Amino acid sequence: MTSDQVISAIRAIRKNHPENLMARYFDEDYFLALEEPLRQRLTKIIASGIENPDSQMGAYVMNRDDYDQFAALLDPIIRDFHGLGVDSDIDHRQDWDTSALSCDLGAVDERLKDISMRVRVARNVSTFPLPGAMSKEQRLAFEDIAARAFASLSKEVAFAGRYFSITPGSPYEISTEEYDRRVDAHQMFKDMSSDRYLNAAGISADWPFGRGIYVSKLEDFLVWVGEEDHLRIMAMQRGGNLNELFERLRGGLEHLERLLPPFAISPVYGNATSCPSNLGAGMRASLHLQLPNLTSNGQDLTRLKREAKSFGLAVRGAGGEHSDAGGGGLVDISPSARLGITEAQIMRRLYDGACALWKMETG
Ligand code: ADP
Ligand code: MG
Repeated sequence: MTSDQVISAIRAIRKNHPENLMARYFDEDYFLALEEPLRQRLTKIIASGIENPDSQMGAYVMNRDDYDQFAALLDPIIRDFHGLGVDSDIDHRQDWDTSALSCDLGAVDERLKDISMRVRVARNVSTFPLPGAMSKEQRLAFEDIAARAFASLSKEVAFAGRYFSITPGSPYEISTEEYDRRVDAHQMFKDMSSDRYLNAAGISADWPFGRGIYVSKLEDFLVWVGEEDHLRIMAMQRGGNLNELFERLRGGLEHLERLLPPFAISPVYGNATSCPSNLGAGMRASLHLQLPNLTSNGQDLTRLKREAKSFGLAVRGAGGEHSDAGGGGLVDISPSARLGITEAQIMRRLYDGACALWKMETG
């Protein structure tokens, strides 16, 4: 794409899709003043938002350093998305100490004793480019490093498990049926090659090479390899006690941190992720809740989305991002904030918001 094409495409998007943050903050003079190689790098970062005018963010970062190099465009996008003031300092402190907060939904209502809980963090290692810029060889090399870390992790009784790969010919390869089964079980990620946002960013390139999942024996600690970030590390279990869920993730994450190359950290934004929406804690903590009254039996999410937003929560369908509500109004609720909020605060926000929505639903 030539610079002129980039500029005229973005002008059109700004008019028709005011929600596209990349287009909103794109500055033509800044873009044209960049030297050619930098302009090409930036064009790749914003390609997905140009090809998909309905993008919310409109940018996927290719290298951790891009957050510094292209701060003139990315910083305003990040601040807008995360609701941070133009000049405010960004606090990306980690705090996993949840001992002072008891967040047991099962103690609030019997019916919340056996819900599906999931919390994941996005992590990338600093020794490879981010997924949008990886070559096939790098994807395979990273998968190898991850598989070796999992072999060591498996020696920890509490986290022992197996790695399953979808790389053709991998020693850990699973069948298509097994892959489908794990997608349906909400464990494995979906076929990325049919995602137009990821395709345009190069993140789904070389699919399915270098992709797989680690699953603990109890199927409550899982790690995605080669999705939108190098790693998505998660705890997932049925119950109602958020403290237990978060402790599970924290424990596994601490082991993996020791077994893998150092994670990619931005000095300004914390954990460096492909999508600027995941910066900071990189965490999404979600509950699958049955909310038939607030969703007209799953037919209409408008009211629930409005109510959830007032508690800082986002609503997704039960099949994940871009899916619809499931039977009986089964939805996914999770705190939207990831940057400028600690892990413990995310847990608290999910608990408070879930209690409030449950009261509305059943009150
Ligand atoms: P992510 O934020 O990790 O990208 P997605 O919205 O893409 O999440 O969902 C990934 C998968 O995780 C989907 O299969 C989704 O149904 C599943 N999932 C998310 N939250 C829960 C939950 N609380 N319980 C069970 N499965 C969940
Ligand atoms: Mg996702």
